[in-house]
Amino acid sequence: MDCLFCSIIEGKIPSKKLYEDDKILAFYDIQPQAPIHFLVIPKEHLDGADCITQANAEIVSYIFSKIPALAKEAGMTNGYRVVTNVLEDGGQSVRHLHFHVLGGGKLNVVFG
Ligand code: AMP
Ligand code: ZN
Repeated sequence: MDCLFCSIIEGKIPSKKLYEDDKILAFYDIQPQAPIHFLVIPKEHLDGADCITQANAEIVSYIFSKIPALAKEAGMTNGYRVVTNVLEDGGQSVRHLHFHVLGGGKLNVVFG
């Protein structure tokens, strides 16, 4: 399977890592949309948030349990936003579940 984020997990494509363990990887977005912008992804490939089921949802709570400390480590001292885009209308460009964590300054409210 040809998946950009699986290739990053496998180290075939370099990334600026923030955190890694056996279940997840956090790395900085190559095209930041905020002063600080990183992504958190499960190491097990899931296509997107539309593929979360009762059977695989544990990884989502695991990711969210890690985000506060990762945001702090990245320098987000006054809050942040977590975003996940789904399929074409949602603006998903990489079909591997990922959560954007954006911060480092006051964010605008954006739809679309
Ligand atoms: P989305 O558009 O929600 O699917 O988010 C995919 C994100 O991955 C975008 O914000 C891209 O800038 C980011 N991205 C694409 N390629 C890389 C890469 N090699 N390293 C880090 N981030 C990337
Ligand atoms: Zn993948």
